[in-house]
Amino acid sequence: MTVIVAGGGIAGMTMALTCHQLEIPVVVHESVQQLEPLGVGINLQPNAVRELFELDLHESLARIGVETKEWALVGRNGNDVWAEPRGLDAGYLWPQYSVHRGRLQMLLYDEVIRRLGQKSVITGSRLLSYESRDDSIKSYFRNDSGKKVEVEGKVLIGADGLHSAVRSQMHPGEGPPVWGGPVMWRGTTEAVPIRTGASFVLVGKLEQRFICYPISNPDPATGLATINWIAELTYDTSQGWGDGDWNTKVSIDKFLKEFEDWSFDWLDVPELIKGASDVYEYPMVDRDPLDNWVDGRCVLIGDAAHVMYPVGSNGASQAIVDARVLGAAFHQHGVGTEALGLYEMTMLEDMNQLILRNRGAGPIGILGIVEERCEGIFDDIEEVIPRHEIEEYMLKYKTAAGFAMDSLNNAPPTIQL
Ligand SMILES: Cc1cc2nc3c(=O)[nH]c(=O)nc-3n(C[C@H](O)[C@H](O)[C@H](O)COP(=O)(O)OP(=O)(O)OC[C@H]3O[C@@H](n4cnc5c(N)ncnc54)[C@H](O)[C@@H]3O)c2cc1C
Repeated sequence: MTVIVAGGGIAGMTMALTCHQLEIPVVVHESVQQLEPLGVGINLQPNAVRELFELDLHESLARIGVETKEWALVGRNGNDVWAEPRGLDAGYLWPQYSVHRGRLQMLLYDEVIRRLGQKSVITGSRLLSYESRDDSIKSYFRNDSGKKVEVEGKVLIGADGLHSAVRSQMHPGEGPPVWGGPVMWRGTTEAVPIRTGASFVLVGKLEQRFICYPISNPDPATGLATINWIAELTYDTSQGWGDGDWNTKVSIDKFLKEFEDWSFDWLDVPELIKGASDVYEYPMVDRDPLDNWVDGRCVLIGDAAHVMYPVGSNGASQAIVDARVLGAAFHQHGVGTEALGLYEMTMLEDMNQLILRNRGAGPIGILGIVEERCEGIFDDIEEVIPRHEIEEYMLKYKTAAGFAMDSLNNAPPTIQL
């Protein structure tokens, strides 16, 4: 009997590769008929990159990603609040990567097909429900011809994202995701990379901010790279918004005027926005922490377990780490309820804390402190917030999110083969 995975996103595909590494039979059921490289940029923190390296994906990651060199917060006046080296430049043993989400998903998918064979991923297969028994679990899927199909396995892994069907059966009555006010518009534009050439830069204040970073290396002929950007505004929640769809295309007219005068000699925000061919709107939603991710032989991983505000580059990174921690539990206890319990015990409380931390703006919360102390207007940031205070703040965040450098560099591999 196999492991059944519902959802072929980053969590589901990493889970499949991990099971294969552990010689555990696995089949992924993905609801869409054809996987396509959807989304725009994401960041993979070194803790997640480490896990992908353990799956022998060094070379393919280097092909699609840009090694992030710097993470910088810049005030609305264009002055630096904070800048720190990232990845190898900071002393991590593994890089941080900025990548296109869809390209990463396709890379993982192709690798699953190459290593496990075509039959390991069934597309057009949507999980409807499950029935957990003492020694197996029955999962029910709807295939593309509308037929209900029953699949029996050892465990069911719900890796079916923000609108998880597995989660809604496990926690009936939970309702839709929670929107706290911020809305993000995302796009990519060909432009010359700024600062180090591989910097993640956030400009502005908590309620209005602009983020950009390259997700391709520059074309040697033109010097242009694909720059991922995100414009964010915070609204009064009484206005209401959608319940979270990553793929809604909108016109830049919806938000451009709010950023019209955001031009600096080193960054032209309106030009970057205008240069994008497609722009996607996403109301920043999350879900409240849960008391459990396990129900009999069924378990949640990735966004299905702990979708959170995308403020600390945790979504994809955490999805990868979840799959590996669950893999480690399978390796230790075999595929069964004991392993599911160990995974839940290892991860749940920390992720619940991280959901709440990200609601409080995660690492970007520093901008809130600056706002409070000087309304964001400063010449010398040291007079507003001393360096050691930011360092402590950042370390706390990295520790909570599992990528504090010393602990990560000294930690044994998650799966000890
Ligand atoms: C289309 C899309 C675009 C995205 N774009 C961005 C982005 O630009 N920036 C960003 O930060 N994050 C983006 N995300 C979210 C990001 O990918 C996740 O936060 C993170 O990677 C965690 O991954 P996951 O595998 O847990 O969830 P997801 O990446 O959401 O993957 C879940 C998968 O499950 C499938 N699925 C859903 N319901 C079922 C079901 N009932 N049965 C079987 N399969 C099902 C979905 O089709 C999807 O492939 C996007 C997600 C999606 C789905």
